[in-house]
Amino acid sequence: MTYLPSELIKKKRNGLCHSESEIDFLIQAYTQNEIPDYQMSAWLMAVYFQGLSDEETLYLTKSMIHSGQVVDFKSIEIFKVDKHSTGGVGDKTSLILGPIVAAAGIPVPMISGRGLGHTGGTLDKLESIPGFNTQLTLKKFIENVDKHHICFIGQTKEICPADKKIYALRDVTSTVESIPLICASIMSKKLAEGINGLVLDVKVGSGAFMKDLSKAEKLAHQLMTIGKGYGKKVTALLTNMNQPLGRFAGNALEVYESIEILKGNRSQNGVGVDLFQDTRELSLVLSAHMMLLSGKHKNYEAAYQKASELLFSGKALKKFEKLCELHSGDLNQFKILPPSHEIKALSSGYFSFINTEKVGVALIQLKAGRNQKEDLLDLCSGIEFHFKTGDQVTEGDTLFTLYGSNKSLFPHAEKLLNESFKISLQRSSKEDLIYKVMLSS
Ligand code: URA
Repeated sequence: MTYLPSELIKKKRNGLCHSESEIDFLIQAYTQNEIPDYQMSAWLMAVYFQGLSDEETLYLTKSMIHSGQVVDFKSIEIFKVDKHSTGGVGDKTSLILGPIVAAAGIPVPMISGRGLGHTGGTLDKLESIPGFNTQLTLKKFIENVDKHHICFIGQTKEICPADKKIYALRDVTSTVESIPLICASIMSKKLAEGINGLVLDVKVGSGAFMKDLSKAEKLAHQLMTIGKGYGKKVTALLTNMNQPLGRFAGNALEVYESIEILKGNRSQNGVGVDLFQDTRELSLVLSAHMMLLSGKHKNYEAAYQKASELLFSGKALKKFEKLCELHSGDLNQFKILPPSHEIKALSSGYFSFINTEKVGVALIQLKAGRNQKEDLLDLCSGIEFHFKTGDQVTEGDTLFTLYGSNKSLFPHAEKLLNESFKISLQRSSKEDLIYKVMLSS
């Protein structure tokens, strides 16, 4: 069946429901470049405002999965598990938990994305390692998962090509924060990669796409329902994104932090707080849930203990080094830039982040994320955070350090960062890192 794209845009704009065949026409025609970006953008914006029913969301997910191939790991009978985050600032947990879980002997076939909206993406981070190739063939993907239990690729022409195109378009058209579009994007990738289980990290807070707990819970519920409908075991965690995760945000800087954590290192600020603590803890918790899903551990505590052992023994670091080798990434050539510009506290008191999305937008200003689809990133640019919410600061302390090769971009980023936090006389209470765990039934 063929349809007029403008009629389908009008239908959704007017709040009407699509048939399965209409959705499939839109997705396949767009994937094959038969519908231009401007019409797809208009349809995505109509979906953003009018939403999709549960049925339409399922049709969209199905059509996106079948825009490419579904991986068949016939040769690997053991349970395969993955994790996906709905998007955050400074969220580099995939780089740590992938190697931990693979080192436990559980295959992790991961199809990741690039930066999306104000949030970072695993593929951009990995590409900051010189030579690292995220576009391996499907054959190589299967081979690496089979032999080494780990492989990280992006959507390709072979697998999830519809998400590859739509994801890049949503990134620059402000059409990310839509529950049905997020569900179809995440689940099409995850259901095409041949996994048995999935752990979802659904971010909540000022730096997430879902700003409040009830919306995040709705998203988690819908993601889980789709996964279960396809016979997968799915656990969802609702986690805090009211402040950036860890000490660094920006592609190479996040790889640096991940390697430091894989080496077992800590990173204390001037008031004795380990700035890697939240990244490390969230990576271990997510690893433990992935390992628990695999059925290899008798309970969560045993899985968490095993994950810690793999991290602190250096076995996960070895797996990360192997991963880089398999993707032609040269860790010997990997480096971060020296710090370029410091932003100081103008008063004393207690520091807290109040708008972490602005930190993400500052990262786009620094070219760590895209403003237009064709933008080339400065993979070395980024921000170092010297304080966490609740920490005491003294006038003159360095709050943020900016990194990047183009210093003319710093003033705009600095303005945004100055709007992202407050210093008050009252200490704001420390928030939980994990709000809720929704276990697979
Ligand atoms: N991650 C994805 O893969 N897609 C989204 O839409 C959001 C987060």
